[in-house]
Amino acid sequence: MKTLDLFDSKKVLSFEIFPPRQPGSVNMIYDTVEQLTELDPDFISVTFGAVGQGTRSKTVEIASKIKNHYGIESVAHLPSINLSKTEALNLIREFEEQGIKNILALRGDINPNIAPKNEFNYASDLVSFIKEHGDFNIIGACYPEGHIESDSIVKDILYLKRKVDAGTDHLITQLFFDNDYFYSFQEHAAIAGINVPIQAGIMPVVNKRQIERMVSLCGVKLPKKFLAMMQRYEDNPEAMKEAGIAYAVDQIVDLITQGVDGIHLYTMNKPDIAHRIYHAINKLLVI
Ligand code: FAD
Repeated sequence: MKTLDLFDSKKVLSFEIFPPRQPGSVNMIYDTVEQLTELDPDFISVTFGAVGQGTRSKTVEIASKIKNHYGIESVAHLPSINLSKTEALNLIREFEEQGIKNILALRGDINPNIAPKNEFNYASDLVSFIKEHGDFNIIGACYPEGHIESDSIVKDILYLKRKVDAGTDHLITQLFFDNDYFYSFQEHAAIAGINVPIQAGIMPVVNKRQIERMVSLCGVKLPKKFLAMMQRYEDNPEAMKEAGIAYAVDQIVDLITQGVDGIHLYTMNKPDIAHRIYHAINKLLVI
């Protein structure tokens, strides 16, 4: 099934996982997948290279097993900045062979230690390439606070419109902790003529290190309320986890109430947290 079709009948709920870092540890992820499938998500997406180059080859294998063994729709992430067109085509063919219909088409982060191949400069180049070479549902990334490299939200949205016009079927946002950024982004996107579904990406923050990494990686802003929570509980892991879950639930309830198209939960491979959040919000997912 193509993820675009899901939005007709419900608020979509999906999960993101990443392939384990350690060599030979791919099986660990299937425990996580099994626990996530108990929640019957609309799809599970699998990152690609986001936590190290060594994880790249596992994305196809894991996305294939989610779909073909567990019977849950899967999305394979595909960052293209370090791929040649031949490599991208080989991956697209592998997705096809495995019956994977949904690709999250990305540029990827520029790694100062790896020279980019310069065959895909922007995600929109990859979107056009995928359109030319197969029948896929294409998902794109978007940034409620603007992409970290972008000097203006207006330009960022202009480029996003190009990515949608190239054939992106639905969008998933980067994580954010202040819903007002999301609502303002939704308005700007609508004015720019972007009318594909936009799923809000939510990350429950359960420790201080995790949030420091996110701020340096994607420049996400931390509202006062969030900072106060961090300060109060940073030395008490159990309380921090509870507060982080409550904060994410609060964000999601507000988003659903305001009519968001769907929620994409960055699970950080922690199914117990996904369970907690799911049970707090699942009855709200009706249209
Ligand atoms: P683009 O859409 O290409 O945008 C990148 C920058 O270029 C933006 O500043 C944009 O404004 C600008 N731009 C776009 N088009 C043009 C143009 N024509 N001319 C000038 N400027 C332009 N990374 C991974 O490595 N692996 C993953 O699995 C992964 N999964 C992700 C999942 C989600 C939901 C999100 C939100 C991000 C994910 N990322 C992942 C991170 C992503 O790769 C980075 O944020 C990356 O820096 C940008 O990728 P993009 O596809 O959004 O790029």
